[in-house]
Parts: sequence; structure tokens; C-alpha cells
Amino acid sequence: MRVLGIETSCDETAVALVETNPWSTDILAQIVSSQIDLHRPYGGVVPEVATREHLRNLPLLVPQVLKDLNLTLDSIDAVAATEGPGLASSLLIGHSYARALAVALSKPMFGVNHLEGHLYSPFLANRRSVEFPFVGLIVSGGHTLLVHALGWDRYIKLGSTVDDAAGEAFDKVAKLLGLPYPGGPEIEKIALKGNPEAFGLPRSFPERDNLNFSFSGLKTAVRFFHEKSAQMRNDPEWINDLCASFQKAVIDVLVRKAVQAVAQARVERLAVSGGVMCNKTLRDELEFACYEAGIELILAEPSLCTDNAGMIAGVAAEKLAAGIEPRCGDDINPNLNLFSPEPHGDMARGLNAAIKLKNRQSKQLPEEGDVAPAGEVEVW
Ligand code: ADP
Ligand code: MG
Repeated sequence: MRVLGIETSCDETAVALVETNPWSTDILAQIVSSQIDLHRPYGGVVPEVATREHLRNLPLLVPQVLKDLNLTLDSIDAVAATEGPGLASSLLIGHSYARALAVALSKPMFGVNHLEGHLYSPFLANRRSVEFPFVGLIVSGGHTLLVHALGWDRYIKLGSTVDDAAGEAFDKVAKLLGLPYPGGPEIEKIALKGNPEAFGLPRSFPERDNLNFSFSGLKTAVRFFHEKSAQMRNDPEWINDLCASFQKAVIDVLVRKAVQAVAQARVERLAVSGGVMCNKTLRDELEFACYEAGIELILAEPSLCTDNAGMIAGVAAEKLAAGIEPRCGDDINPNLNLFSPEPHGDMARGLNAAIKLKNRQSKQLPEEGDVAPAGEVEVW
């Protein structure tokens, strides 16, 4: 079974063709066209610029992927596109293109949750079929999310950020320090030359069982040091130390909460992805912590940590191979929820009810900027 995947949820236009095999789903070809250079002058993603680029890129990338493989459109069995969450106008371009293609080819069209794609991408990257249960950690520009994945469409939220996403914190701190967008890779480069212990920056660990994240206090602390030390700002060593200390504070929280989540969920594996997972120090520290805790770490290579279409096609292909009909791609949903499972037969009903209850409980989490009161987050 070959599935063509299209991903346009934000500022990357990606097209991939995947094929299911008995033990895995493999990427036959993939092209990811990044728009970072176009958005850089604005210091962030401009939705209209992204939309126009997707519209320009898609009709070029789809034929190119097939040409690279010496295949024609007839060899596709199904088309999958990101349904949400993401920027509405960007999602619409990829989704509409995929629907038109599916109609023209008389093939099924599936809508895939972008976050489900990220949860699955470490398995795809390691050329293995997804193995439930596991804890998934997504660390990107838009999300910092810990998920207990019990099965396809059966996800429990263990924790998420109550303010900035980790990638967003990297981008905002970089902007403050006058570094270009996106900030993560810039801070990583500079941090290599600095001392991570130079500044005593705060780590937000509300209480032991709370798996939520908060990065706004850390961001404010960096701003405080920056503003109070006007004469030091031109000293490269001082900037190196500040970047290294900031990066270390983010990594400490991510690693500790991820290991804690695996213990609380009582699973054996941790699958991680998202753009921030390109950070080499974070990868190394997580690898070491998982080794020490006896956790099997499934890590995607950097190109599959960031947005890509292989993970979108792969989710549709793996679900089909597991006998699950993926969501039919009727429309986009910019706020598509990962935590509203559809019942799959009588056997699943009790489990789905329990998952819905858990996720409803985690919806009562504090609003932006609040610190979660003790005992509010209950985790399995
Ligand atoms: P989204 O899809 O939410 O926009 P991505 O998965 O594309 O996010 O990841 C982009 C984010 O990852 C940006 O915030 C960027 O700063 C961050 N990022 C990328 N590379 C690194 C790195 N090496 N270190 C830390 N953060 C990084
Ligand atoms: Mg993403």
C-alpha cells in the first residue's frame, strides 16, 4: 500500500510517498520545502506569506516526488493530508490539493492529526511499526506536550505547557538577545561556547506529580539579567554563558518531566519529536537519562523531528494496515483535538470513556500564566 502525504500546517510545504511493509512503513521519497528564509525578516511566521508559498510549491513538489521514484500518480493507493491543528489558511491549501488529487484519481482521502504524526514519527524514523503503549513527548514551536499513547486514537494528556512552548521560549529569548529567527538553532550554536552553570536561572517544577511545563518565568529571568547588565551585553562570553544557562534550564525540565511521565504512565518506551528535539545537547541528555532509568528511547533523526509529510502519510498507512479506517478527509480543523477518541466497537467503549474522563480532568488545568495548584493534575 502506497500513501501520498501532504503537510502544510505551518511554514513547511512537505510531500512524501510511503509504503507499508510487514514490519514497518517506509518513506520512499520526501521533499520538505522550508520557508524560514521568507519569514525571518518578520521574526516569525506570516500566515499569508506561508499560504502563498504552499500554493506555489505543492504543484511542483508532488510531481517531483513521483519523478524521483520513476512512478506515476496511478501507483498511489490513498492520499493523506494534515487536517489540523495548524494555521487555517495553510491547512486549507494542502488539504484542498490532496482532496482534488484524490477525487481525480478516484482514491480515498484521509485527514491526519498533525500531533498524531509527531507522536508516530520516531517509529517511522527508526523503520518500525508503532508499538503501544508509550509516552510521547512533542517539543516544538507550538507545543510542549506529554502524551500517554494507549493505541491509535486513544491518547491521555499527561502534561502540556501552561504558557510558552519550549521552542517559542527559544525564539523569544533569541529575539531579546538580538539573534535571528528561528532562535533554537542560534542559541544552540552560541550555548556550545558558554558555561551552563554561569547563571542561576529558574526551573519550573510545580510539584512532583505535575507534568505541566512553564517557561515564562525562565524567559522573564533572562530578560531581567539582560536589562540589568547593559554594560555586559556586548561581551560575547557573557552572551555565551547566558545562552548556555538558558538552554540548560529548558533541557533540565524537559528531561526530568519526560522520565517522570514514563514512570507515572508505567510504560517502557518514550518516543520524542518536534523541532526542539534537533538540539544535540537535549538529545544527548535525554539519551543518558533514559539509559539510567532503563527507558527505551525512540528518537527521530532531526529531519523527521520537524514538520514533514512522511509522518502524515505514515499515520494513514499504519492505521489502514492495523484495520482502522483513518478519519475521512472532509474538512480542515485548525483546533483539531488529539484527546477526543471516537469509540471503536463495544470492547473499546469502556476504555474510551475512561480516557475522555481523564482528558476532561486535564482540561481543568490553569489558564496562561497561572501556576497549577497542588494535586490538580492526576496522572495514571
Ligand atoms: P512548529 O511545527 O510548532 O512550528 P517545529 O517542529 O517546526 O515547530 O519546530 C520549530 C521550533 O523548533 C522553533 O521554535 C525552533 O526555534 C525550534 N528549534 C529548532 N532547532 C532547534 C535547536 N537546535 N535547539 C532548540 N530549538 C530548536
Ligand atoms: Mg510541528
